[in-house]
Amino acid sequence: MKYVGAHVSASGGVQNAPLNANEIKAKGFALFTKNQRRWQAKPLTAENISGFTENCSEFNYTPKQILPHSGYLINLGQPVKAKLEKSRNAFFDEMQRCEKLGLKMLNFHPGNHLNKITPKDCMKQIAESINMALDRTKGVTAVLETTAGQGTTLGYRFEQLAEIIEMVEDKDSVGVCYDTCHSFAAGYDIRTKQAFEKTFTEFDKIIGFDKLCGMHLNDAKKELGSKVDRHASLGKGLIGMDAFKFIMQDERFDEIPIILETPEPEIWQQEIELLYKLEKE
Ligand SMILES: [Zn+2]
Ligand SMILES: [Zn+2]
Repeated sequence: MKYVGAHVSASGGVQNAPLNANEIKAKGFALFTKNQRRWQAKPLTAENISGFTENCSEFNYTPKQILPHSGYLINLGQPVKAKLEKSRNAFFDEMQRCEKLGLKMLNFHPGNHLNKITPKDCMKQIAESINMALDRTKGVTAVLETTAGQGTTLGYRFEQLAEIIEMVEDKDSVGVCYDTCHSFAAGYDIRTKQAFEKTFTEFDKIIGFDKLCGMHLNDAKKELGSKVDRHASLGKGLIGMDAFKFIMQDERFDEIPIILETPEPEIWQQEIELLYKLEKE
């Protein structure tokens, strides 16, 4: 079974996210549990929590179908100590919000070295941040997203993600989310069956499919290896529909959230329908 959905709005409270997901006939969804562009957030209320749980159960969303995304300000590899502490505290808070909502995963971008420390030291800092977060929460897996490698972002090579995972103490509580647009921009081709197999054989060898916790399905506006992160709607970018068909017909991507982050929310329902049609082709 494939859990295809989209990153839906949680505006008005997290309890609205499952309603918005059901509205577009999604079988999975992503959400922000707080405003993604601010440091501060009000704690979740009892009403938020019970509303979220009730709406999820009403529309049959279980935690394995839900992949929350952390805020954009957090940089767990931040070179400046005072700022690192701010990022870490915000991340711990997000992990704890997931725990309170009964969610099992939190997806985040690994971090940026900002040219102030070496990539190696940055990765060490990211792993240490994950270790600290896992010490402070129970039952929530930290899910590193593959990135495009734009600017000083790390996590664009499978080897970098593997290196971070290697330094995490609790290996059962760390995983990876594969973003098709980001990894295409990072140089991983999936446009032909041959390229697709090569990329995912490499993924399996270096990271392992047992670590794959979710997918972000996005077409890409910029060319292979551009390192520029610009999402396009499915079939409207340079990756093309074949790649999405390969994913839908491959059981290695079963039982994990498969999330659209494409730029036209008004066609998400059509994109979801199309993906389920491709699965049966
Ligand atoms: Zn992301
Ligand atoms: Zn993504």
